[in-house]
Amino acid sequence: MSTTFRDLGVPADIADDLAARGFAAPYPIQLATIMDSLAGHDVCAQAPTGSGKTLAFGIPLVARTEQARPRRPKALVLAPTRELAAQIAEELSLIGRTRNTRVATFYGGVGFGKQLEALKRGVDIAVACPGRLLDLFEQGAIRLSDVETVVIDEADRMADMGFMPVVRTILAEVRDRHQTLLFSATLQGDVHKLIRDHQVNPRRHVLDAPTDAMGSRTHAFWRVDRAQRTNLAAGIALAHGSTIVFCRTKHGAERLANQLSHVGVAAVTIHGDRSQAQRDRALALFQAGKAQVLVGTDVAARGIHVDDVACVIHFDPPEDENTYVHRSGRTGRAGTSGKVISLVSADQESATKKMQRQLGLPLGLEMPTTNLPTPSGEPHQMERAESPSQGRNPSSRSLTRHRNGPDRSRSAASSSRTGYQGGSRPSSDSQANRSSSSTQAARPLQGRGPRPKNSTRNGRGPKRAA
Ligand code: ADP
Ligand code: MG
Repeated sequence: MSTTFRDLGVPADIADDLAARGFAAPYPIQLATIMDSLAGHDVCAQAPTGSGKTLAFGIPLVARTEQARPRRPKALVLAPTRELAAQIAEELSLIGRTRNTRVATFYGGVGFGKQLEALKRGVDIAVACPGRLLDLFEQGAIRLSDVETVVIDEADRMADMGFMPVVRTILAEVRDRHQTLLFSATLQGDVHKLIRDHQVNPRRHVLDAPTDAMGSRTHAFWRVDRAQRTNLAAGIALAHGSTIVFCRTKHGAERLANQLSHVGVAAVTIHGDRSQAQRDRALALFQAGKAQVLVGTDVAARGIHVDDVACVIHFDPPEDENTYVHRSGRTGRAGTSGKVISLVSADQESATKKMQRQLGLPLGLEMPTTNLPTPSGEPHQMERAESPSQGRNPSSRSLTRHRNGPDRSRSAASSSRTGYQGGSRPSSDSQANRSSSSTQAARPLQGRGPRPKNSTRNGRGPKRAA
């Protein structure tokens, strides 16, 4: 018999409920980290996209988190984007449904009202983007001194987006003795510094080289004329079904979605100019199969988890090989196989070959498949006229108390199994998240800025022998 969650020490109520939801056998990252996390150690872990990091930290987090007092959450999860925060919160509420764990999200781009109300009622686990959390903290709406566990998800992306100073400020505010669980696609660079300065004897687990995340996908690089790309994207989407297309700019994403819808391929968009309600609605339509194509900028690249995304198209080239990996990671998740197609124009060939070498992918470009289906040509009406007010905001669900709700849980588990991450650079795509942090990042809270490197941390003694 293979190892079960119970074997790892996961409390029976949670383990049995996970099994009932179809999570019987832990994934490798879960096998590697859950016992350490349950035992209260600091953990830093590197694992590729789609390897099951959310449950890896979520299960021990829920298992260990007690009921919080109003405004004083017991645990904090920091995530780089709103979509990721919403998806983590949804998963945590499901894990905690047997215990009525109260989970709420805190991010920019939405009003403060519901977030303040949730805090007043009491939130056991706060899932937040750093900027909004700091806003709430500075307003006195949230106290961090009861926080016993902090999870930093997508730490590398957090660093890329310029959140590290705010993250450090937040870490300086939580309870002295706390546990920090850090998950990232890489433990290098700024992430390494954060581990060095903020974790105490962390148990370190490196699962796979990031390129191993490519395993369950096939990668094709097509040599195309720029003008061909829209037709090819339409044909690919028709051939594969659910497809995510990545564009470089918001404008480009909108234009492509319009063109696709115009020829009869239902497309929705996610990018930084869309309101939260619009993004949520787009994601919901895509998840429900009402839109075949989700066109996004890189804000959508990290961590969106939609089940059964058949294909990812790099309509514009990724900015670097990491972006390629993360965009591509939207398909072929959780052991399924997926297709990744890059539409490469002549001026991008050398950069593409360089990237292929860096990632250990087969070198070279091929001609596009010629037998792709042709779109009906009948304009698709559904989504282009979408109104934000129609949007059902999945994150708002996370703001409500999750008292045992098998119905909501079922639907969330089956139809909108999400594991969103999303996000790229400190571009306008993430502006709402950063509205506060952009001004505050450089300005530590008065008198309580990040701890100097060599100081001891939280009364737990020196971090490392000098
Ligand atoms: P990551 O954060 O590492 O990119 P996620 O946590 O989003 O990955 O998980 C990817 C997918 O794998 C999700 O659909 C999740 O429900 C599924 N999954 C995670 N753990 C298990 C498990 N033990 N058994 C089956 N499916 C799992
Ligand atoms: Mg994740």
